[in-house]
Amino acid sequence: MHEHSTFVSYHKALMELSHNSGFIRQQRHHKLSALTALCGRLLEVERVSVWYFPPERDRITCECLYDQRHEPKSRQQSVASYEEDLSPVSLYRSDHPSYFQAIVEERILAVNDARNDSRTASFNSDYLPSVGIHSMLDAPVFDGSRLSGVVCLEACHPREWTLPELSFAISIADTISLINTHEAWINSKRALDFISRFDTLTGLANIDSLKNRVIHLAEKIQRRKTGSLALIWVDVDRLKAINDGLGPQAGDSVIAEIGQRLKALRLEGKDLLARIGGDEFAILIRHHTQADVLNDTTDRILMAIGQPIRVAGQSLNISASLGICHLPEDCLEPQELLRGAEAAMYHAKNLGRARATVFDSAIQVSAQSRFALERELRAAISSDALDVFYQPIVDQSGEKMVCMEALVRWNHPQRGWLSPIEFLDIARGSDLMYALGECVLRRVCEDWAKADSAGIKLPIISVNLSAEQVLTIDLPDRIKEICAKQRMPVSALQFEVTEDSIQGDFNNLAGVLETLVNDGAKLAIDDFGTGYSSLARLKGLPFSHIKIDRSFINHLPDDENDCAITLSIIGLARGLGLSVVAEGVETEAHEQWLIEKGCDFLQGYLYSKPLPFPELMERYFSAELR
Ligand code: C2E
Ligand code: CA
Ligand code: CA
Repeated sequence: MHEHSTFVSYHKALMELSHNSGFIRQQRHHKLSALTALCGRLLEVERVSVWYFPPERDRITCECLYDQRHEPKSRQQSVASYEEDLSPVSLYRSDHPSYFQAIVEERILAVNDARNDSRTASFNSDYLPSVGIHSMLDAPVFDGSRLSGVVCLEACHPREWTLPELSFAISIADTISLINTHEAWINSKRALDFISRFDTLTGLANIDSLKNRVIHLAEKIQRRKTGSLALIWVDVDRLKAINDGLGPQAGDSVIAEIGQRLKALRLEGKDLLARIGGDEFAILIRHHTQADVLNDTTDRILMAIGQPIRVAGQSLNISASLGICHLPEDCLEPQELLRGAEAAMYHAKNLGRARATVFDSAIQVSAQSRFALERELRAAISSDALDVFYQPIVDQSGEKMVCMEALVRWNHPQRGWLSPIEFLDIARGSDLMYALGECVLRRVCEDWAKADSAGIKLPIISVNLSAEQVLTIDLPDRIKEICAKQRMPVSALQFEVTEDSIQGDFNNLAGVLETLVNDGAKLAIDDFGTGYSSLARLKGLPFSHIKIDRSFINHLPDDENDCAITLSIIGLARGLGLSVVAEGVETEAHEQWLIEKGCDFLQGYLYSKPLPFPELMERYFSAELR
């Protein structure tokens, strides 16, 4: 009877933990910490650890350790101290063959006296005495039929393990197995999403296959000191206009048709045709790279694309811009071949599109300056050298600052102050957006702390988040960490997310945004009216503010269309119970019209340009400073 109620209470505690919706969304190490701590406390064992088999499978490695003897007073501390303690410990199969055999063969290993049990005696020489262990209860973790790890409960005294304890250890192992399966499923779903998106549209190779092929062929050329490659970069002109005007499906049809035409072309030396981006293709030519042959090749490509394409009941005249780069004449590295061809393509666009340009030294110079900028930006981000300016957002009185937007700036050693328009594209193209976002947030927290220590309470600071950030599940944890370093509450922040950034996986997105709001931050949808966000999406996400894009405000109150759009956004916001912020308020006419129509908050040069932090303090808080 007693055993039965223990049994029930253990399982109830586990259910309460693992069925909590917050638990499912947590990062893996938080989940494991919570499970091991629960197990340690309920069963009163000194140590509970989770181990996994690395791919070599010749050892098990400790992934998570709960040690009751080191358990700190508060829960929050405990996570941090685990991480410090956790130097990756491994136990090798060759040192402990009996133990490894036992975990393969037995569903559960209850070892009452570990130092005198044949299965665990091999640990006697160092592991057991070093951590003071006398008995062990180990449950293997199976992912499907494959042994993937083990959960170890270790006690400092010889101990008779009971049936409820055995059952509980197995349940913990099963829960970990579920976590593993869930993670594997999410990963494979991601991989599958990618593959199928690319396959259904054109059936062509993707950029990774192209890169691999170029690497392979470039190596061959270098080794044999003979042979040549040319890469033709094809970028469809003005596809965005088709997407905007006729819908993304029309754009997809155009791309699919062009893919078919390029595939059907018999080109001399054609080695690989790939679709390397939304509206970009690449054709790799081998050996037949002499100027006259390539001229003929690019003419035929331009002609094939230039034949009218029927889409959505219309006949469209499409063109493309081509860039060509050679290996080994222009470059030796595979990556440079791609970049050179892309740079030449941009040059073709600048010359008026619908043509082919061959990479040359002038293009090289301008491309190099872009690469140099990229390199410098990377360095600036990693050394926290970016700056942040702040622009006030005021209430209807036009005087009271209720919020301020943080806007990134870069003081480039040679070029001076750069605005984000001049470097965000580069950041996006080189995977730097996430790091840039963290760099900005760190600076914001530092500035907040400076004001705080001078006794000044700043209004809410609104920080822009990139798509890369909002699609990262760890984002809320990282934000909390960064804020905590300066003792800044997350509730001192608002985050702005553009319409375009919320097009990704809805569940992930909602998880991230809801966590931010639960942590106390406000959430605004930025540049509203320019993107494609559906009402359903908007309603399902926890926004409290809508920011109307400044392109609509610009021509108020004279432009009828802009007036109508702005009015309907204000109406929509009312309907959804959101506050409205107008950006780019430059004139009193803008201000008057917006206030009359019920816009809640205003931002723009009429009130202030974005200011460096010291200037902001001087202008708005000088009274408090003295
Ligand atoms: P945004 O979020 O729409 O920011 C408002 C932009 O409008 C700022 O440009 C601001 O200087 C400008 N602005 C404000 N009032 C007026 C006005 O009255 N007239 C005019 N003509 N412009 C006004 P900025 O600082 O150049 O930023 C450009 C864009 O760069 C931002 O647009 C935002 O999308 C992006 N951005 C800036 N900082 C960050 C950041 O830290 N992270 C991310 N992900 N994006 C950022
Ligand atoms: Ca913004
Ligand atoms: Ca905006």
